[in-house]
Amino acid sequence: MTVAGDLLAFVDRGPSPFHAVAEMGRRLEEDGFTQLEERDRWTIGAGDRRYVVRDGGSIVAFTVGTQAPADTGFRLIGAHTDSPTFRVRPQPDTVRAGLRLVGVEPYGGALTYTWLDRDLTLAGRVAVDDSGTVRLCDVHLPGAWLRIPSLAIHLSRNLRQEGLRLDPQQHLVPLWGPASGPALVEAIADHVGVAGTAVRAWDLVTADTQPAAVGGAGDGYVFAPRLDNLASCHAATAALRGVDAPRATAVFVANDHEEVGSGSAEGARGSFLEDTLRRIVIGTGGDEQDFARARSRSRLISSDMAHALHPNYSDRHEPGHQPRLGAGPVVKHNANQSYATDAGTAAWFDARCRDVGVSVQHFVTRADLSCGSTIGPLTAARLGISTVDVGNPMLSMHSVREQAAVADIEPLIAALAAHLAAPDD
Ligand SMILES: [Zn+2]
Repeated sequence: MTVAGDLLAFVDRGPSPFHAVAEMGRRLEEDGFTQLEERDRWTIGAGDRRYVVRDGGSIVAFTVGTQAPADTGFRLIGAHTDSPTFRVRPQPDTVRAGLRLVGVEPYGGALTYTWLDRDLTLAGRVAVDDSGTVRLCDVHLPGAWLRIPSLAIHLSRNLRQEGLRLDPQQHLVPLWGPASGPALVEAIADHVGVAGTAVRAWDLVTADTQPAAVGGAGDGYVFAPRLDNLASCHAATAALRGVDAPRATAVFVANDHEEVGSGSAEGARGSFLEDTLRRIVIGTGGDEQDFARARSRSRLISSDMAHALHPNYSDRHEPGHQPRLGAGPVVKHNANQSYATDAGTAAWFDARCRDVGVSVQHFVTRADLSCGSTIGPLTAARLGISTVDVGNPMLSMHSVREQAAVADIEPLIAALAAHLAAPDD
């Protein structure tokens, strides 16, 4: 399979953070990684390949280095597993105009108009209690269950003058079927194979059903949902799988909840990465002093997608910083620390790219536009680890269907792998 085909399969298997984490775990296990539980005591040693999952949607995977973390620091990659979407409400059944709709709540900053007239399904997990104990079941409903129909232009005469205005409470409610049909929870219980009353709660989001594809001239582009940021999760997983017996412990963290501010137990503001790094230090014979020493020698590449220059809106980029699709990974800079990059970490990433013959692009936002952010500054602030924000260029970020370049997939994997295997500087 080509690396592009592998990315398409990865994205298609990750309609929710829970599915993306399960897919990363499955791939890691193919290369000898085994899962640790946070509730257990850990026994770890040099060369061990392990991963740990918190609340289903976040993962930390690592290969223990041949040297103590206090002597080499950690080589880290960070990414996120979530994407903008709509989340099913606790009481979703809504009847309007003789039709049964599904009440949803916007999650993150979606380009909401792109979700109109798409064939949607639901994915995530449900909490089942049919025997006095609650179990969580991952769910990815087959086929297209839902659709958010747009309003015909004949009924929207002012559309051309006023543009499209969508009130999320009123206009972005998916249609499921006739009001006489079953409630949504009954249909989901049917799919899971339990009684309707046994499904007690859910973390379900909408997902486009159209498979990811390559296209454009020479099949040079990837057209897919959730490239922000499953493309980085895919690259980091591949990089970690390819690194064997590194000197410094190699770590990949992918957090849920980045699109909504990262403020959760499993988000980048939470303790998941810190807890795991501390346990690696202690598990390899170190103490709290060694943990601080290890952090001070560590480097994190925060990989999240970057805005490529848009051919129809080229004035939206700073004229001196216009990353192009297919021209290599982008280092993201922001004077106000929306990105964690500084001179030292930018040069570190640049050197790793030169190690593997990859060219680097740079992004800084226009002075008159506000800037996005990533898990990079949050992780850097929490742990005091030197961090660089990078990412592959893309178009249509936060659309239901995004676009990136096939030519950028392998260079990012190579640069991340060079980082994990890099000697001390
Ligand atoms: Zn992102």
